[in-house]
Amino acid sequence: MTNSSRDMASLLEVDRLSVDYRLKGISLRAIDDVSFALRAGEAVALVGESGSGKTTTAMAIAGLLSPNARVSQGEVRYRGQRLPIDDDAAMRPHRWSETSVVFQGAMNALNPVHRIIKQIAEPCMLKLGMPKADAIGRARELLELVGIPADRGAAYPHELSGGMRQRVMIAMALACRPSIIIGDEPTTALDVITQAQILKLLAELRSRLNLALILITHDLSVVAETCDRVMIMYAGRIVEDGTVAEIFAKPKHPYTRLLIDSIPNPENGKKMIRPIPGDPPNLRSRPAGCAFHPRCPSAMGVCSTEVPVLDKFGRGRVACHLHRSSQEDKVAAHD
Ligand code: SF4
Repeated sequence: MTNSSRDMASLLEVDRLSVDYRLKGISLRAIDDVSFALRAGEAVALVGESGSGKTTTAMAIAGLLSPNARVSQGEVRYRGQRLPIDDDAAMRPHRWSETSVVFQGAMNALNPVHRIIKQIAEPCMLKLGMPKADAIGRARELLELVGIPADRGAAYPHELSGGMRQRVMIAMALACRPSIIIGDEPTTALDVITQAQILKLLAELRSRLNLALILITHDLSVVAETCDRVMIMYAGRIVEDGTVAEIFAKPKHPYTRLLIDSIPNPENGKKMIRPIPGDPPNLRSRPAGCAFHPRCPSAMGVCSTEVPVLDKFGRGRVACHLHRSSQEDKVAAHD
């Protein structure tokens, strides 16, 4: 891990992490040399198109990689201790009590034949060893915390709206008092108004409980009011990392610029999403050099042969030859 991404006060450190998937006898790299640190109470967004590696990164941190995935390099540390992220049984004591996940599509994640109060109380009994009556009491408190009257706990998932079900998922994620919540596209299936309410709830809970948040999204527009920092991922690598203010005001990587440009903005007459030309690379045929070069409007000769390194740039990090050249020019000018 570079000094720039290491912080003595870090709650979580992801250090040079690479994960491969085994598919039909072929090994495919899903994330490649990913490093970052997360402080207590900090909210970081992982943003990128499908296949960028953001969900694999998050699932690796939570120890929830699929059976055909393998950690081929690096490690994840929680409060300085290495997590056994590739050992399902060894990860059990850590899961939900240190890091827990709010998945997208609550209807699929909740058990349709159990009342929601039971589903929230269950992790309190299993993980915290609470007696049933205490666990039900805690589940009622958690429902109130996420804005659902405790008496609604008697409902089955299909009796609740999509927004309410997602609130139930958040209550379940909080059951064992984790310090980190991972939101995996937690608002994707919701309408715009409910999406805003859920994001507001996450922001309120974060500040009230001093939770760190890792928000996975393909949509940059949802991070502005929820997160402190954004990491842009492309083809399994972090290509830019900076504060929300810096990334929106002065994006440095051409991919980040195009992502921001794709967001509709009625104030300047941009009413429709403007898709980025071309497709994200297939894991089986990752372009040589900078993986973004076939789609990049600023590509140069070196871009198709040399992988740009994620270097410190200003207060953030960027992986792009454009910025490496300008940094080297500055050094040369001082020599
Ligand atoms: Fe574009 Fe080259 Fe920068 Fe990649 S390294 S983003 S291709 S300019």
